[in-house]
Amino acid sequence: MNCKHCNAPCIKKGYSKRTQRYQCKACRRYQQQQYKYRLCQKEDEQTILKLNNIGVGISGIARFTGISKTHILNRIKQIASKLTKPVIVEQEQEYEVDELYTYIGRKDNPYYVVYAINKTTRQVIDMIVGKRTKETLRQVIESIKLLRPKKIYTDHLNIYAGLMDRSIHCQNAYQINHIERFNLTLRTHLKRLSRRTICFSRSVVMLQNVLTLYCYTWKIKHQF
Ligand SMILES: [Zn+2]
Repeated sequence: MNCKHCNAPCIKKGYSKRTQRYQCKACRRYQQQQYKYRLCQKEDEQTILKLNNIGVGISGIARFTGISKTHILNRIKQIASKLTKPVIVEQEQEYEVDELYTYIGRKDNPYYVVYAINKTTRQVIDMIVGKRTKETLRQVIESIKLLRPKKIYTDHLNIYAGLMDRSIHCQNAYQINHIERFNLTLRTHLKRLSRRTICFSRSVVMLQNVLTLYCYTWKIKHQF
């Protein structure tokens, strides 16, 4: 057997409830070929990621894999906690900022996904779920300001004007076409964001986690 973490050869070392355990010669980690507890199985992770990013909801994933819904939720939380935001080192670029409407639990509890993309590379710079207030928008704008932007394009929402300098701000409906198109992609690829269905998020944390999985796993996404 080869190691699941570094692919080096493993040696047999002891038992765990009558199942053979192995130890990696290189990284010294213990592991088993098969686990009864499915949260430990690494293969499931890829399946969950792929299904999540092609418009399958939690109950869909649960039905397809045969794992329980609670387990899928925990697994998604676990994967999202391991993912980190990519380090961006660019300077003097142009960015588009927009808010995507959604709701948590009930229709009269609106929430917004506020995020920014690079106008040229289309990379997601920052993404925050919250109410449409100055505090939420500020967090996204502040993380763009660290990259010393040449221009920030937004819609006509009047909160933006107070958050950044007039010289770098541009409010034009035609300059945010790329991010508006990305909104459509998100609504197609994430079940809980699709309109005119009975699918929605019940918690802010899960919406954040699912968005993290989608936005920060580009490599996995492009395997399709
Ligand atoms: Zn190893």
